[in-house]
Amino acid sequence: MAEAFITGEKVFRGIPVSAGVCQGRVMVLGRRRETVAWQKVSAEEVPRQIERLEQALVATRKQIQEVQHKVAEAMGGENASIFEAHLLVLEDRTLMDEVVRMMEQEQVSADYAFHQIANKYAATLGAIDDEYLRERVADMKDVVTRVLNNLWGGGDRLEPPQIKEPCVVVSDDLSPSVTAQFDRQKVLGFATDIGSKTSHTAILARSLQIPAVVGLQTISQQLENGQYVLLDGINGLVILNPTDQTLFEYGKLVRKQAGLHEKLLDVKDKPAVTLDGHAVILSANVEHASDTVSVLQHGAAGVGLFRTEFLFIAREVMPSEDEQYQAYRQVAAALKPQAVVIRTLDLGGDKFMTHLKLPPEMNPFLGWRAIRFCLQETAIFKQQLRAILRASAEGNVKIMYPMISGLGELLQANALLEECRQELRAKGVPFDPNMDVGIMIEIPAAVMVAESLAKRVNFFSLGTNDLIQYALAVDRVNEKIAHLYEPTNPAVLKLIKTTVAAAHQAGIWVGVCGEMAGDPALVPLLLGLGVDELSVAAPLVPEIKFLIRRLKWDETRQLAEFALQCESGSEILSRAEAFARAAAPSLFENQS
Ligand code: PEP
Ligand code: MG
Repeated sequence: MAEAFITGEKVFRGIPVSAGVCQGRVMVLGRRRETVAWQKVSAEEVPRQIERLEQALVATRKQIQEVQHKVAEAMGGENASIFEAHLLVLEDRTLMDEVVRMMEQEQVSADYAFHQIANKYAATLGAIDDEYLRERVADMKDVVTRVLNNLWGGGDRLEPPQIKEPCVVVSDDLSPSVTAQFDRQKVLGFATDIGSKTSHTAILARSLQIPAVVGLQTISQQLENGQYVLLDGINGLVILNPTDQTLFEYGKLVRKQAGLHEKLLDVKDKPAVTLDGHAVILSANVEHASDTVSVLQHGAAGVGLFRTEFLFIAREVMPSEDEQYQAYRQVAAALKPQAVVIRTLDLGGDKFMTHLKLPPEMNPFLGWRAIRFCLQETAIFKQQLRAILRASAEGNVKIMYPMISGLGELLQANALLEECRQELRAKGVPFDPNMDVGIMIEIPAAVMVAESLAKRVNFFSLGTNDLIQYALAVDRVNEKIAHLYEPTNPAVLKLIKTTVAAAHQAGIWVGVCGEMAGDPALVPLLLGLGVDELSVAAPLVPEIKFLIRRLKWDETRQLAEFALQCESGSEILSRAEAFARAAAPSLFENQS
């Protein structure tokens, strides 16, 4: 994957997920070490290894105490007591003495000795027929992970990283909750070993406008803190020690990109209408209430998808109904009279809450996710429904349920919504009684019963990120099968077409809020398939609008007709790409 040049430059190739170019010093946040390798050290090296271990233990203790303190503040001492057990593991002298003895007697690294002995303890505890002791195994594993991360210099990846200087973050993986907390001024860009275009980490990168490359396989093991890299999020490259010539070439590219951005912003306040007069609703996807600024800045027609789960993750406690209401009303009021589609909690898959420990699942994307979670955890769901209803009094709010697979779930969700309406009514709390209710179409089963669903909702929004993964059985976040994740697969296009037909037959509108909508190569195809709305990361709105204004709708319909007849996904993709390129060549100029 990496190419070494005589110049000393080394190029790593991955998957581009967030356009933009940056350069800076590397900061490695985490490295994948599935096994801790046996590592012999010399006798003279042993004291240094013991010192490393001690430093890692001190750092771990400090991190645990900080979390304990935060949790105690937010949720009370009882909830924080779990961390006492973690601290006890660290203070277990028998365990630590045994680790030191192993280092001295066998002359092995601190990592290896600690891992071996801790695992031996965990296995012994796990084998005892006592529930309390078995639970301590989980504490032990948690602590072991923290200590090993500190030994490897990766810092503490369980909490948001404290990044003090601007840097290019390199990691084996980045969770959406950590990424959501990145400070745009400090994180110039990021590169990860794993990941894909439709992971929520990549989605956040685009929304935060942080250049990013993922799927770089082993980059986190190959780069060290302080090395200098250039990251090209347009073409998916990370260049270690870029030469003057490379920097010069990229200087030109960056200037060209800046020129293009200015040109694109010219269309910001113009309508998203094709050359032959077909109007498209072009809205934005947001993750935080503060993204409203970006929605307005980029000229979107409201919000087509508010991913509310980001209010819940990356924090120690659940947001209260009131806190949620404030966030929803802030967006609704700022964008009024434009629509704001608030999607109910879509937890699970690759989005987890730090404070709510959900049991690990074998197939999280097929598991206890989104509406399935909400229909069981009705207290959490109803709190959110009430907050959304209350916000509907202050703007053009629409509610949308994710992961609906059939009529039963829609009816159950609506019954809970009705209960919430009645509760608010009883208290005299205002809300919009006619608030539109829509669903995401992201499960093939929902497409198959789209006619029946369409009769009972006000709109559909196609979640193509999930629809593609479920239709093709391709995990959307696994870079190893990213080549199989094919938005132009004939089966996917037929699913979209069927959804559009069912929606239009019932007289409702249908949008696309998955990443397909923000890919210029695919936009003409989606318009030709008849979708009424596109909702994309706010920073992408000008580019998509620029493109729409250069298309003829009639021609996009011919393109879609061709695609629906064609049997090859790659042929459809090249035809669609050529079509979009011909309409707006400047959008593709910097792609190699
Ligand atoms: C989708 O699945 O396309 C979608 C928009 O939802 P998310 O990416 O949050 O799963
Ligand atoms: Mg989805």
